[in-house]
Amino acid sequence: MVRVRDLHKSYGAVPVLRGVDLDVGAGEVTCVIGPSGSGKSTLLRCLNHLEKINAGEVEVAGELIGYRRHKGKLHELGPRAITRQRAAIGMVFQNFNLFPHLTVLENIAEAPIAVLRRSRTDAVARARELVRRVGLAGREDDYPRRLSGGQQQRIAIARALAMDPKLMLFDEPTSALDPELVGDVLGVMKDLADGGMTMVVVTHEMGFAREAADTVVFLDEGVVVESGAPDDVLRNPRQARTREFLARVL
Ligand code: ATP
Ligand code: MG
Repeated sequence: MVRVRDLHKSYGAVPVLRGVDLDVGAGEVTCVIGPSGSGKSTLLRCLNHLEKINAGEVEVAGELIGYRRHKGKLHELGPRAITRQRAAIGMVFQNFNLFPHLTVLENIAEAPIAVLRRSRTDAVARARELVRRVGLAGREDDYPRRLSGGQQQRIAIARALAMDPKLMLFDEPTSALDPELVGDVLGVMKDLADGGMTMVVVTHEMGFAREAADTVVFLDEGVVVESGAPDDVLRNPRQARTREFLARVL
């Protein structure tokens, strides 16, 4: 479902990703771990072309993301084509980013109506179903400020799911939450994983990685230092850099 080859990304002269390969099969969950500044968010942002890339390529569901190939060269797609590609890739950030002036239902139904041209009736019915699925039935008409951080994050997940994404990206979805709210959000993510969603999750939650991930990728200084099954990478890391990182976070 995701295929990244030799991805390079710099900001100005500063290289942030230095030749990253990543493969995520359909229905698989990959957790990306690594120190602050290692390029985890940048990698996610390259997967849905929130960033232009300097070299390499990103494919999602067999489609080149952000570019088209013409005579062996890559040319950036136009804004419409990029919007269409992004519509199929859900993204959940650390800080929820719900629209404060829209209710829970409106937050979830907005993009399906505006981007997918769904009827309001259908979009709202689906939004209700998604609110139930993330455990928040009854809160449909609340504004985001009335919800806890954990509840807002579950609505942000519902909002992403409303677009029927092929792939879900999560960037430290629980790091802004009070500890007692983390479990509910991880629970929703685990259900999603068990339901067969393809997911790339940047996280510091090693328990989640161990339980939910098919693959754990350790990124450091813009390169994949080590990747493999959670038990291998988290319990028996082969690389000294992985061991040092885990010793600090576990
Ligand atoms: P964290 O765990 O703190 O979220 P990260 O692994 O997600 O870190 P990135 O946000 O991908 O790291 O950043 C990688 C590097 O790129 C950092 O050195 C950061 O300062 C730099 N960087 C990120 N975004 C930009 C930008 N828009 N312009 C310039 N430099 C940037
Ligand atoms: Mg980050």
